Formats: sequence, C-alpha cells, structure tokens
Amino acid sequence: MEQVLDRGLHEECGVLGMFGIENARDLMYYGLHALQHRGQEGAGIVTVDADGIMRRIKGMGLVSEVFNSENLKYLEGNMAIGHVRYSTSARGGIENIQPFLFHHHTGDFALVHNGNLVNANEMRIYLEECGSIFQSTSDSEILAHLIKKEHSGPIQVHGIMEALNKLEGAFAFLIMTKDRIYCCRDRYGLRPLSIGKLGDGYVISSETCAFEVTGAKFYRDVEPGEVLVIDSGGIYSYSYSAHRNHYMCAMEYIYFARPDSDIEGCNVHAFRKESGRLLYKEAPADADIVIGVPDSSISAAIGYSEASGIPYEMGLIKNKYVGRTFIQPSQELREKGVRMKLSAVSTIVKGKRVVLIDDSIVRGTTSRYIVRLLREAGAAEVHVRIASPQMTDPCFYGVDTSSYEELISKQHSAEEIREIIGADSLHFLSTDALYRAARRSELCIACFTGKYPTKLYSALEAAKRGARR
Ligand code: AMP
Ligand code: SF4
Repeated sequence: MEQVLDRGLHEECGVLGMFGIENARDLMYYGLHALQHRGQEGAGIVTVDADGIMRRIKGMGLVSEVFNSENLKYLEGNMAIGHVRYSTSARGGIENIQPFLFHHHTGDFALVHNGNLVNANEMRIYLEECGSIFQSTSDSEILAHLIKKEHSGPIQVHGIMEALNKLEGAFAFLIMTKDRIYCCRDRYGLRPLSIGKLGDGYVISSETCAFEVTGAKFYRDVEPGEVLVIDSGGIYSYSYSAHRNHYMCAMEYIYFARPDSDIEGCNVHAFRKESGRLLYKEAPADADIVIGVPDSSISAAIGYSEASGIPYEMGLIKNKYVGRTFIQPSQELREKGVRMKLSAVSTIVKGKRVVLIDDSIVRGTTSRYIVRLLREAGAAEVHVRIASPQMTDPCFYGVDTSSYEELISKQHSAEEIREIIGADSLHFLSTDALYRAARRSELCIACFTGKYPTKLYSALEAAKRGARR
C-alpha cells in the first residue's frame, strides 16, 4: 500500500532546463510560469555557477509564491533545472518538491522528473538488497541510486543509460551535473520533452509553450529511448534502448497540455479543434448554441461549432483566479473548486438548446454540476458531448485519472451516466477519432481501453485491491 501511494509522487509535473543562458534563473522563472498548469502544488529551481556550485530554492505553492526578485538573486549561474509539481493528497510536503539535489564525493547532481515508474517497488527492493538506504519515497531517488550503483566515478552517460534501461514506465528526466544536462525520455514516448535553441544556449521543456515566453525557438523533441547530452561542446544523442515506440499520452492532447504547445509536431489546439469536429460527425445535436467548459474544452467546442454551423457562445464564465479544479488533491476541495470556478451566463443560455462540450469525464463531478448550472440559468435542453472516450481504467504513467472505484465510466454505462449528470443526451468520442485528430497511428489510450503499453508489475494488483493511487 505504502509503495502504491508513492505513485502519486510525480504526477502531471512539468520539467524545465536551461543550458548556456546568462542568469538562467530569470528565464527559468518565466518558463516555469508557462508550465504552471502542469502542477500547482510546488515549484523549485537548482542552478549551477561557473565554479560548479549548485544552489536550490524550492517551496510549496505557485511559481509566483515560491520565487521573488530577492530570493531569485541567490540562484547564480548559466545552467539550471526546475520543476512544477502536482501531487495527490497522499503525498504532499516540501520533501517531495523537486528538483532533488544529491551530494556525492564525485560531484553533486540535481534531478527533475515528470512521469511515473511502474517498477518502482521492484527497483527499490532490488536496490535495498544491494545495500541502498533510501532517504525518501520518491521514484527519482531510485534513478539516482541506480546511476551511482554500477559506476563509482563522476556521472557519465553510459551509467545513466544503464540505469534507465532498468526502469519501466513513463518519464522525462533532466539530470544536471556541474557542466552538463542529460535529457532522458522513456522508451515508450509516454511523456513529452522538447528542446529549444536560444542564442548559443538551450531550453529543455515538458511543453513547447515555455519556448515562446523565453524567446527560444523549437529545435527538436527528445526521442523515445534517447538521452540527449548538452554541454559546452554542443548536443549529443545516445539511444539507450532498441525498443522504441511513440505512445504519447493522449490525455496530454485532450486535457493536460496548453493549447499553444506542439506535442510531437501536433499543435494541441489543432488536435482539440479536430476532435470537436469529429465529435459533431459522430454525434450531431439539434441545438441553438455550443458552449465549451473553460478553458480546456474551448478548442473542441470551436471545432464542434464550425463543423455543425451552430454558433459558439460564451455560456460559461470562469473565475480565473481559482486553480484548476481537478488539480485540487481531494474530492471535497475539487467540488468546492468547481463551484467557485464557473458561472453560467443566464442571458446567453436562457431558453436555448445547448450543446455542452467537455474534454473528459473522470468522476462525473464537473459535468453533473455544469448541467445543473445551465438548467438553473434557464437552458431548455443540455446535450453533453465529451471530446474523449469513456475513461474506464486508471493511469499508471503519472496522470491522476483516479482509481477504479472513482471512475464513473468503470461503474456505469454511457446511458447511466447521462442520467446521473442530468443531460438530455450524451456522447463520448471514439478511440479512432483520437488517432485521427492527432494524425498518428501510435498513442497511449490505456485509460480508455485498459490496454497498457508496458508491463505493470505490482502496480496493477494494488490498483485492483482498491489502493488509492
Ligand atoms: P470529473 O469532474 O472528475 O469528471 O473531471 C472531469 C474534469 O476534470 C474535466 O472537465 C477535465 O477538464 C478535467 N480533467 C480530466 N482529466 C484530468 C486530469 N487527469 N487531471 C486534471 N484534470 C482533469
Ligand atoms: Fe495518458 Fe491515459 Fe496513457 Fe495515462 S493511461 S499515459 S492518462 S493516455
């Protein structure tokens, strides 16, 4: 149970790195801001100065709460890595805020991680049997021990590659030593990681939206199963696995990433818009207006509106200064969050037949509440269209999509859900449409099908026993 709860550790985080950028801290601050949607529980930055000294600031809260113009000055140097963190209620606390900083007589190193290892329990036992004593419950510490176990000298790419080969699951890791940044992506390609160029330096980010704000230009993605080494000589590519796939997480496109990000060559807004168009083709509705749940469903609603010719309207207004609902770790906070966050615009929806587009239904909290809100505001009919398939299975790769018992689609058919949320009609997008919208033949869609691209080790058994992820 304890080990399973660990799975919450690196959920839905964002990683950012900079190499060869004067006073990297300043752009790190703006870049982490751009990644804030990936996690709002904590943030941190480690820099390296010209003498190889690593300095770290990390804390709970938003990027703007953790850093200020005074404390940022402490972070000297032209190299940095940083992190924004989301966690479940199971594992809050400053000790799990990244970057992790490891002191070692062969040289200090820092590490950030987005994703989740599915063989973390097995690796931890293996390492403990080899003599490791863990300080924390984090997956990232596992990688650090693995790297150091086989190779006693300073960190080298071959040691990292050997360690990565022992890991199973989803990850984007940045490992920073005094003169290098290693950028690593899992062999299945589940989590995104892109490189941008800024002058003679580099910006490495979970999402390309951080390039815009830092002035970097997209250079290339880190490939699945690849380690990119960035140092003063340039950028070098190593492949640590012959087995490589492009099972990018579909939820990145559907919900998680920012619409201005491009993930593996596909713009997130364009994906969502196309999914909205396909949603109309699959389930046209006779209606007067189309409304999207702000913000993540607006692109799909525009697509539905364009394909149907039904006007898009601002029927729901979001209070911008409340965090993303789902990102609140407990159900109670989540429900309060929805209430505070959205208002229906009565003058727009009154007497209208409304198509309500949402990107996904997980527990059903949001849809049930919004349908009620629209009816109270006078909507004549509410036809709900969901721009993703029914979510029937939990994610083991770092996205908090909930446990089996909480997933409304695990427990109920689409018709039952329609009744529960009080809609006049309900349709979920097909899995085929996801591939079409992304224009690709490989994607992870395991939370909609239960077909996971990796082995799951003990994680699946624990999830079935009902342990909260
Ligand atoms: P629920 O209210 O539990 O059905 O959650 C659905 C809402 O949460 C949708 O409006 C989505 O925009 C959002 N959402 C879906 N998946 C996630 C996720 N993994 N993390 C955070 N929010 C999500
Ligand atoms: Fe993404 Fe779902 Fe796959 Fe998890 S199971 S990586 S949320 S598509």
